[in-house]
Amino acid sequence: MAPLAAESTTFSLDNMGRFVCNTLQEAKDSAGQVVGGRTRDFDAIVVGGGTFGSVVAEHLFIADTTRSRRILVLEAGPFVLPEHVQNMPFVAPASGAPDMRVPWVNHPALNYAGLLFAIGGRSLTWGGWSPEPLDVELVEWPAAARAEMQARYFAEASRQIGVKETNDFIYGPLHTALRKQLDDGLNVAGNETGFAFSDLLDHPAVRYPDPGEPPLDAKLLRDWLGLPASDTTPLAKLKELFKLEAPLAVQSTTLPGFFPTNKFSAVPGLMRATRLASSEADGVGAAADARKRIMVVPNCHVQDLITETQPDNWVRVTGVRVWQNGGSVDVMLAPPRNGAQSAVVLALGTVETTRVARTTFQQSLAGRAADRMGKNLIAHLRSNLTIRIPKAAIVANLPPTVIPSLQVSALLVKGKAANNKTFHFQITASGLSKLGADSEAELFKKVPTLEHIDALRRATDDTVVITIRGIGEMSPRNTDSFIDLSTVDTDFDRPKAVVSLGNAKATPQQFPGSAETNVDRATWNDMDAVSDKIALIFAGAEPFEILAGNTVIPVPAGTPAARLSVLAAFKNRRDDLGTTHHDAGTMRMGANVADAVTNDFGRIHDTTNCYVAGPALFPSAGSPNPMLSGVGLARRTGDLLNAGVLPGPDAVVSPQSEAGFRPLFDGTAATFSKWRLSGPTGGGMLHVDGEILSYGDGGLRLFYYATETFADFTLRLQFKIFDGTRHNSGVFLRFPRPTFDLTPPLQARLGSEPAFDPGNPAWRPVISGFEVQIDDNAIGDSGKDFYGIQPEPNGLYKNRTGAIYKIQAGDRIWHENRNEPAVQTYSPGPPLIPGIWFEYEIGVQGDDYTVLLTNTQTGERRQTTFFRNTDAERGRSPGFIGVQAYAGNAVAWRHIRIKT
Ligand SMILES: Cc1cc2nc3c(=O)[nH]c(=O)nc-3n(C[C@H](O)[C@H](O)[C@H](O)COP(=O)(O)OP(=O)(O)OC[C@H]3O[C@@H](n4cnc5c(N)ncnc54)[C@H](O)[C@@H]3O)c2cc1C
Repeated sequence: MAPLAAESTTFSLDNMGRFVCNTLQEAKDSAGQVVGGRTRDFDAIVVGGGTFGSVVAEHLFIADTTRSRRILVLEAGPFVLPEHVQNMPFVAPASGAPDMRVPWVNHPALNYAGLLFAIGGRSLTWGGWSPEPLDVELVEWPAAARAEMQARYFAEASRQIGVKETNDFIYGPLHTALRKQLDDGLNVAGNETGFAFSDLLDHPAVRYPDPGEPPLDAKLLRDWLGLPASDTTPLAKLKELFKLEAPLAVQSTTLPGFFPTNKFSAVPGLMRATRLASSEADGVGAAADARKRIMVVPNCHVQDLITETQPDNWVRVTGVRVWQNGGSVDVMLAPPRNGAQSAVVLALGTVETTRVARTTFQQSLAGRAADRMGKNLIAHLRSNLTIRIPKAAIVANLPPTVIPSLQVSALLVKGKAANNKTFHFQITASGLSKLGADSEAELFKKVPTLEHIDALRRATDDTVVITIRGIGEMSPRNTDSFIDLSTVDTDFDRPKAVVSLGNAKATPQQFPGSAETNVDRATWNDMDAVSDKIALIFAGAEPFEILAGNTVIPVPAGTPAARLSVLAAFKNRRDDLGTTHHDAGTMRMGANVADAVTNDFGRIHDTTNCYVAGPALFPSAGSPNPMLSGVGLARRTGDLLNAGVLPGPDAVVSPQSEAGFRPLFDGTAATFSKWRLSGPTGGGMLHVDGEILSYGDGGLRLFYYATETFADFTLRLQFKIFDGTRHNSGVFLRFPRPTFDLTPPLQARLGSEPAFDPGNPAWRPVISGFEVQIDDNAIGDSGKDFYGIQPEPNGLYKNRTGAIYKIQAGDRIWHENRNEPAVQTYSPGPPLIPGIWFEYEIGVQGDDYTVLLTNTQTGERRQTTFFRNTDAERGRSPGFIGVQAYAGNAVAWRHIRIKT
C-alpha cells in the first residue's frame, strides 16, 4: 500500500497527526514482516492512549535500551492536540469531534463528565494540581509499591510532569502577601487544620533537589519564594512557607537547550517516542513501518482482550479485539520468546479499564480476581468556596507601593478531619475587581496580547477574588461504590459499565448509604469547616463577600466561622461526586491474591501478562489528585516490564575467556550511540534486539566506532548472516576517520579501484585500512580482473570469509598454471550458516594481523589467516574500527568488545 499522505481537513492540514499515527492496517501489516530474522509482531499492546497509557508507552519505549520491543498503542479517539492548551474547549456537537463523553451508565445525581476520547485523554485538559500523598495516605498500598514510590517514583514523576519546579509564573506582591497572611493565620490557635506543618511534606522543589543544584540555603529559598534579599526569615520558616506553595505541574522556565514544557500533558512524550521511532526506522512505507519500535493507532476502539487459559489455570492474553466497521478485528501479541512474555497494559481510565477487564476475565478468572474488579470505587469529595476580599484585608502584608497590574496566587493547605480522613485546599487568587470572578481560570488563562497588556496593567486590585477548593478523601471499600456490567446497555457491542457511588452529597434522607458513605459525610463537613477558617484568615478584620454563582453574599466584619457555613450552605459549594475525574480503586493492587485485583506492579492476579495503568490501581487515594501517583506507578510498571517481563535480546554465548575485554557495543543504546554511519544517509544500520543490523537497503556504508582509535588490540565480535547467497560484509580495521581525505599516496592508487566513489566516504577505509571479509561465496569483484580474466572469478581465498580482503592468499591462477603469492596465510574457517552466530577474534599487533573464526553453536574454531603488513600507507596505527553494510546483503552484529 502506498504511504498515506498528510490529510487535508476543512480547516487544516493534518501533517502532525499523519506522522505521529498509523492506521490499524499499517500496524497489522508491519507485524507480519520480518526484520533481522524475526517477525515484527508487538511485544506490548497499550490499550488506551490517554494519560497513563501514553506515559507507559513512552516509558517502555525510552527505557528499552536494547531496542528489543515493539509497542502498539490503540486509542479510541483521534489525535487532536500536540500538547495541553489551556482552557481549550472540547465542544463537539454532532460533528463527531472529540469531547467529554460518558460511555457508562451512572446515576444522574453523580453527574459524571466522562472521558475525553483523544490521544492524551484527560491530560489535555487537566488542572495541574499534583500534591504528593503523605505516608498515612498510602497505608493501604502494598508495602513494596509504597516504599519504591517514596524512594524513587514520586521524585521521578515530579520531574516528569514539572511539579518539581518552583512556580516561577506565580510571584509578586499579592502572592507574597496572601502566603504570609495564610501562614500567620494557620499558626493562630483555633485555626488548626488537623495537620501541623511538621507533618507535611516539603514542596517538591525543596524535597527533590536536582544533582548539581546549589545548596538549599536561606538565600536560595528566599529567592525562589520571591522575597527580597534583605528578608531575614529563618530557614525553617522559609521551608514552612514553601509548604504552602501550590504543587502545580506547570513548568515555564527551563534549562538552556530544553524547551519549556508548560503544563504537562502526556502527548509530547508520546510524540517524541513516535518521532524517534520514525527516525530510527529511516523511511516511510510498509518496510520502514516494520522497523518502527512504537506505533500509535487512533480511532481504534478496543472491545476486549483475547485470552487463553494455560494448563496451570493462569490466563494469558494473546491479543486484543478491536471494533472496526461493525465487526471485530483481532490484533495479536507476539508469542513468548527467550523465556519472556509479551504484555497488554489496560489504560482506559478507571471505569473503562474495569469494564474491559471484567468483560474479558469474568469467565476465565471467575471466582478469583474477576470477582473483585469494580469494587472499591473511590473518587474525591470536592467543595468550592469563592470569596472577594477588599485589598485592605491584606494591606499589612503588601509593600507600601504596588504597581497596579494583574496579580495571581496559588497556595496549598492540607488538613485532616476528626475521623482522620485527609483533605487539602487548592487556593487560587487573583486581583479581579475589573476582570471577573473566577480566580482559578485567571490563574492559567491569561495569554496577553499587546492589546490586552494595558488592560491587565490597569487592573486595580482593589479587591481580590480567592477560590478555596477543598478536595477530600473518600472511604475505600464502600459497598455503595462499585462498577458493574450492564445487562441491557451496550457500547461497541459489549456491555456498558454501570457506575454506583456512595452519594455523600445527598442528604441521609435522600440516600441513607453505608457506614462508609456516612464517614464521607463527616469528612466533608469537617473539610468545609476548615475552608471557612481559611476564608476568614484571608478576610482579616474586613467585611467581604461570598461569590456563589451569580449570587453575592455580603459577610460583615467579625462574622464567626460557624456562621459562614450557614451563609455558604454546603449544597451551594459541593460538587457532584462524579465530576472530579479522580475515579480510582476498582482494580486495586495488593500483595494478597485473595484480597486484591492486581499485584503491586499492576498485573491482574492469575493472569500472566495483563497489566493496568492508572488510578484504578490505587487501594486508597487519600486526598491527593491522581496525576502524580498515576505517573509514578506507570513508570514503575514500565520499569518492571522492561527489566523482567518483556522479551530482550537473545542470550549471548561467548566461548572464550573475556578477561581484559571492554565493550564497544554491548547491545545497548548507550554503546550504539558511539558508532557513526559513514556513507549515504537513509537505510543501512538499525539497532534492534541488542544487535546492529545492516538490513540491506541502499548503497555501500560503513558503521564505525567513532569515539576512539586503536593501535594494537584483540577485537572480538559476533555476526550472523541471513542468506547463504547474499551476505557480503566485513570488519574494517585501522583506518583514519572516513570524513578525512585520503593521503596523497593513497589518492594516487585510486586508478586501480575503478568502483571508488569520491562522494561516498565509506569507500575511503577500503583504501586506507584493511577489511576482514565476510562472504563464504567469495563473489568476485565485477570491476576487477584476475590476471586477464574479467570479472574476477568467484571463490578466491582472498575474497572469502576470514581473509584480509584482496590481500593475495596464494590463490591458484589456473590459466597461468601457478599460484598467487601467499601474502597472507589463509585457510577457510567453519562455513557460515544463516541464523547462527559466528565470532571473529581479530588480533592486530604491530604489523601482524591474525583472524580466528568460531561457530558459537558448535564451538568449532579455526584460524583463518595470518598477515604481516608491509604497506606503510595502509592500516596505520592507531585507527578506527567499523563494520560494513552492502545493499541487499543483511548481516547482524553483536557483542563487540576489545582488549588493548
Ligand atoms: C478538567 C480536568 C481537570 C483535572 N485536574 C486535575 C488536577 O489538577 N490534578 C490531577 O492530578 N488530576 C486532574 N484531573 C484528573 C486527571 O486528568 C485524570 O485522572 C487522568 O488524566 C486520567 O488518566 P487516565 O489515563 O486514567 O484516563 P484518560 O486520560 O481519560 O485516558 C483514557 C483513554 O482511554 C481511551 N479509551 C477509552 N475507552 C477505550 C477503548 N475501548 N479502546 C481504546 N481506547 C479507549 C480514551 O479515549 C482515553 O484517551 C483533571 C481532569 C480533568 C478532566
